[in-house]
Amino acid sequence: MGLQIEVKDLTFSYGAETVLDGITLTLGQGDYIGIIGPNGSGKSTFLKNMAAVLTPTGGEIIIDGKALPRWRRRDLARRLALVGQGSSSGFNFTVEEMVAMGRYPYLDRFGSLKPEDHAAVERAMHLTGCYHLRQRGIFSLSGGERQRAILARALAQETPCLLLDEPTSFLDLGYQVELLELLQSLNRRERLTVVLVVHDLNLASRYCRQLYLLYRSRIYAGGSPEEVLTRENILEVYRTEVLIEPHPLDGKPQVIPVAAAAELKNNFKQRVHLIGGGGSATPLMKDLFVKGFTLSAGVLSVGDSDWATARRLGLLMVEEAPFSPISPQRHRQNLELIGEAGAVVLAPLHIGPGNLLNVEAAFHALEQGRPLFVIDDPAAGSRDFAGGRGELLYRRLKEGGAHFIAGSFSDEITARLSAITPS
Ligand code: ADP
Repeated sequence: MGLQIEVKDLTFSYGAETVLDGITLTLGQGDYIGIIGPNGSGKSTFLKNMAAVLTPTGGEIIIDGKALPRWRRRDLARRLALVGQGSSSGFNFTVEEMVAMGRYPYLDRFGSLKPEDHAAVERAMHLTGCYHLRQRGIFSLSGGERQRAILARALAQETPCLLLDEPTSFLDLGYQVELLELLQSLNRRERLTVVLVVHDLNLASRYCRQLYLLYRSRIYAGGSPEEVLTRENILEVYRTEVLIEPHPLDGKPQVIPVAAAAELKNNFKQRVHLIGGGGSATPLMKDLFVKGFTLSAGVLSVGDSDWATARRLGLLMVEEAPFSPISPQRHRQNLELIGEAGAVVLAPLHIGPGNLLNVEAAFHALEQGRPLFVIDDPAAGSRDFAGGRGELLYRRLKEGGAHFIAGSFSDEITARLSAITPS
């Protein structure tokens, strides 16, 4: 029979501390959901409420149309199996004995295993790769081996739904992926419903179809990985600045930490505009981004490495078609960004007839009274493929009051920007 779980306005408190407040969600047969959230956000507590290990303070959990308190424990154990954290035993059972405990909801009052029980135990041990450990005492197992034996016990229970609390936490990368792929194949082939509490956002994104992000006792965001794993949500909940990149194989959002939000404080609150191209602005772009500066860039050719970096960092930028000279329209847009910026940096780009306008654009910063930093390393003469016109423009920029910088430009620019008092 298809499984149906409804969590309605669930509230739970440990004494005076409310840990879950108004949690509502529904689950059907074959769903695969991930519960994510920072440490202490109530993920384990939520799972324990679903497994009837804890009793809700308010609201209710309805399984197959019947509220949890009305379920007999043995019947519930045929519908849900919990793979908890630190499910340990005080006795040194063998792996096989422990996995066989998963059969208790099916045993008669004499507790003897029938052939189908033995078959379920063997299958579960094979699936989780612990058949060869079956005679070993569980005290002698490594953390990873014990974790797999605990999963085997839950699989031996042959329920249509598994609730797992950080099942990958003791596993190395190989076993993590193996376990999650096992769950995925059971989910796809046998429509096993999976509720996974998981720390690792990237694993959650790859394997779960729906995610619920818990924060401050509530569901802060729920939906597909794309809907939940956004830069804004993660900044708010984990106080971390991240980049979100699609996984190269399946396009699922992957979270790449950039810096703790607290690290991203600097005095310079205005936008810094970078003029670059051909990768000349990339090191500075990355460095200033990590330091929390708001950036824009232009004019960059679509497909060039500065363009790719700016795009990954989500910067405001002016783009030009690949291998095309900068058009008057793009130049104008670049001037607009320069005019509204708090400071402008001209990266050490290679100068050719097609991008001379990028060097000319820098004059607009001087005209507008904006600080202009010119990274002249290597010196303009060695980068000039425009018959000396580039070098000439650099000389005039210097005369016009631009700050020329060579060497460790990033630190110097950061220091100079930070010294500018907010206007
Ligand atoms: P998570 O799994 O997201 O890390 P938990 O559900 O374990 O979060 O814990 C949520 C909050 O409840 C935390 O503040 C934790 O300290 C508290 N808590 C957890 N278990 C207990 C308990 N048995 N008694 C009192 N407080 C608890």
